[in-house]
Amino acid sequence: MSQIPTYVTAVPNGTEKGVYMAVDLGGTNFRVCSIKLNGDSTFNLTYSKVAIPKELMVAKTAQELFAFLAKQIGHFIETHHGDRFDKDTGRRITESAPEGYQEEHVFRLGFTFSFPVQQLGINKGTLIRWTKGFDIPDAVGKDVCALLQEEIDKLHLPVKVAALVNDTVGTLMARSYTSQGKNGALLGAIFGTGTNGAYVEKLANLKKPLQGDYDKSTGDMVINTEWGSFDNQLSVLPNTPWDIALDKASVNPGIQMYEKRVSGMFLGEILRLAVVDLLKKEEVAFFRDENSSSNDWKSTTNIGSDSSIFTQWGLDTAIMSVAAADNTPELSTLRQELDSLLHVYSPAIDDAQAFKAIAGAVARRSARLSAVAVAGIVLQSGKLGGASEEEPIDIGVDGSLVEHYPYFRDMIYEALRSIDGIGEEGAKRIRIGIAKDGSGVGAALIALVAAGME
Ligand code: ADP
Repeated sequence: MSQIPTYVTAVPNGTEKGVYMAVDLGGTNFRVCSIKLNGDSTFNLTYSKVAIPKELMVAKTAQELFAFLAKQIGHFIETHHGDRFDKDTGRRITESAPEGYQEEHVFRLGFTFSFPVQQLGINKGTLIRWTKGFDIPDAVGKDVCALLQEEIDKLHLPVKVAALVNDTVGTLMARSYTSQGKNGALLGAIFGTGTNGAYVEKLANLKKPLQGDYDKSTGDMVINTEWGSFDNQLSVLPNTPWDIALDKASVNPGIQMYEKRVSGMFLGEILRLAVVDLLKKEEVAFFRDENSSSNDWKSTTNIGSDSSIFTQWGLDTAIMSVAAADNTPELSTLRQELDSLLHVYSPAIDDAQAFKAIAGAVARRSARLSAVAVAGIVLQSGKLGGASEEEPIDIGVDGSLVEHYPYFRDMIYEALRSIDGIGEEGAKRIRIGIAKDGSGVGAALIALVAAGME
């Protein structure tokens, strides 16, 4: 695994105070927010969102995009924090600080930038490549924090880009602040479109050379595991014919093999491939149209030929949550969804039951594999046998899969209990909780930690 050092050397414990800013550039929208940390595990968030104009995603120069971002930050401060704005004398706050703002007026900002970067320090990282439709060659290889700071400075805004933030680290920080534990969380994990985790490791265990400045006093550093790429050689992960088919038809065969068995983007496709395989089997009566005498397997089913079930990625993982949540004897909700979403005409109860069983197996495997990652980190931390045996081991999770799939966390716990070295007692000490807003409050908290290092 990549195990990327993040230069974040401490997690919060809920007593932190102050007003910080966070921005998030990750896809179609740019989010700007300010977060007031109240010091008692609570916070108030002020938020705005603007779509990135398509032409800026492919601008000639990075400067055009980052000037737009800085302008949005300016609008936000003017609207929500006018007290830090001197309207008469341009944007400087006092006469005595002609070249800038007084220190106490400067917002520390956490910058969540969800593209591949080489992190070189807590607020320094160079863009490796653009993804998700962005293409501004001029920006590749440049420090994205410096690009943003330059444009902020041109507008004389009272903002310092204090931290470059990965979303899993944001989740870890958000959980640490809000969970009311004494020592903060151990792990932040995402189970959404993709999966990844960031955890607190002892500095002494780091083998990678660290280039930037960082605070050595805590003895810890947060590591971004990039666990989605675990076991790309497939020496331990399960491998079914449907995993193989999914990987072969993907844009990156042989890569992100753990993620392809765990995360929301892929579970629906695994289920779809398994269902289609069964539909093709003549000897299995599954979604069968009893009146059909056709030789074409699609026409022997009671599924409309226009159904998305016949096309790659045609089945969204969300339907697995519907299947799991429907515990009525007739599975009426699931059957309705099969009809409206997948054009299955009058789905029979036993067909819906079979669909639910397969979906349940795919999801349960995902949860059990998720538990392996969680367990690996809990065991590595040594906290189960540690001195403070009564303290819970806190884990923050985020993402639609863990949030919306019924019993996903219960299935993770079920697996944790059966893992050597964890067991019933260990599983009781692990506290997995949803940590929302990693790119908001989490990013602000990283800015706070970074400000402490200045
Ligand atoms: P992201 O990870 O991109 O920030 P999300 O956490 O919302 O976004 O995850 C989106 C993924 O979750 C998609 O792959 C989608 O198929 C899946 N998903 C969306 N809704 C549900 C649901 N109700 N149950 C299970 N998976 C879902």
